Amino acid sequence: MRYISTRGKAEPKSFTDILLEGLASDGGLYMPEEYPQLDLKELRGKSYIDVANFVLSRYAPDIPVADLHRIIDRTYRAKTFGTREITPLKMLEPGLGLLQLSNGPTLAFKDVPLQLLGNLMQYVLEEKGEQLNILGATSGDTGSAAEYAVQGKTCMNIFMLSPYGRMSRFQQRQMYTLKERNIHNLVVDGTFDDCQAVVKEVNADAEFKKKYKLGAVNSINWARVAAQVVYYVYAYLQGSSHDSLKVDFSVPSGNFGNALAAHVARQMGLPIRSIIVATNENDVLYEFFATGIYRVRKGNEVAVTSSPSMDIASASNFERFIFDSVDRDPELVCDLWDDLKEKGSFDGRFITPRFGYTWQSGRASEADVDFTIRETYEKYGVIIDPHTAVGMYVGLQCRRQRTPLIVDETAQPAKFEDAIRRSIGISPPVPKGYEDLADLPEHTTRIEPNADAVKQFIIAHVK
Ligand SMILES: *Cc1c(COP(=O)(O)O)cnc(C)c1O
Repeated sequence: MRYISTRGKAEPKSFTDILLEGLASDGGLYMPEEYPQLDLKELRGKSYIDVANFVLSRYAPDIPVADLHRIIDRTYRAKTFGTREITPLKMLEPGLGLLQLSNGPTLAFKDVPLQLLGNLMQYVLEEKGEQLNILGATSGDTGSAAEYAVQGKTCMNIFMLSPYGRMSRFQQRQMYTLKERNIHNLVVDGTFDDCQAVVKEVNADAEFKKKYKLGAVNSINWARVAAQVVYYVYAYLQGSSHDSLKVDFSVPSGNFGNALAAHVARQMGLPIRSIIVATNENDVLYEFFATGIYRVRKGNEVAVTSSPSMDIASASNFERFIFDSVDRDPELVCDLWDDLKEKGSFDGRFITPRFGYTWQSGRASEADVDFTIRETYEKYGVIIDPHTAVGMYVGLQCRRQRTPLIVDETAQPAKFEDAIRRSIGISPPVPKGYEDLADLPEHTTRIEPNADAVKQFIIAHVK
């Protein structure tokens, strides 16, 4: 299995090569040369670990099978994810399921791919005898999931910039109370965009980046996508009685990583009728599916919503999906992304008519989210977080008789107490093991939001 760039001008690489890299050298994203096919008969009745072994060994043939199995086994434990199923499917009523992806250490679905990524990276770095210093910016879930994935790993340090006071209280406590030698919470007086701009500027210094072995764990990492394919397959096997039944998945979407994983699962032969892309008021993706025009937003056009992990200006994984949608023609992808760079948008009206019911999309306003949290609670006695509520609202709008609908639960309500209180007037229960979070001391460093300050800090803290 080789990985090729969506822009067609970079050398094909192996899984372990692209694991530690970001963009391909031509600015594109890596994609597997072809999609390996699932054997649903063989996988029926198997555990999460078995399904993960099947899927991931096909994407990472350059890791010896025994080593890969050991890494998977160590990653997906009931102790870390709350249940042996790892991502249990909870049926709310016949034909409507909630895929519980957020029972990992930081209570958001990003733990599923990032816990694996941390272990995979540590393995590859150990093999190569190398160190990696991860530099990132977060507005919430990514930062804590990355820190929990990297904590205690001997080959990695992590430097995470976050905007002070702009994450939910729970998210803030969760990140800032981590106390590990290799974790550095750099707190900025400013916005997420300020943080991201600084990270970009530091990365633009190629010499510094090389000397201090800077890397990232961002959402374009292929291993993350591959790890997410596993739960779609596993959910399908749990939610269907036979392999000819098609199901719909509704995916609360931001950077399009999770929806892309559903697409990959379908390309591998998973019987999915419709992938439903659910956005909040930041509806870049909905607009594309509705009109064929993909238009990225300017910073000041991004609304602040109750589902902050979906408040995006553009969707970083979208290029992979377009690559497949234009029959993997890299020149066409280059043309579209040239347009995007020049005009801030591209015209994909020649693409969207092909989709039919295979892709659907919708958008949930803040009022819709509020209503859906309340209704789900009243109807099923289940509290869902605002991100999941976006998926639930849009999913129910697209639902068809006789096609089971599975909605991705992407975060636990405990992370977004204020929004839950607003909708239903009570606080979500604090999950077991998180009761003490409020009392732990915080470990942060205030830093000026400029590249020099961050560079100095990195220099002082890596060996
Ligand atoms: C990251 C995130 C999303 C969006 O997922 P993408 O893969 O970026 O589309 C949705 N919900 C939650 C809770 C998240 O943390």
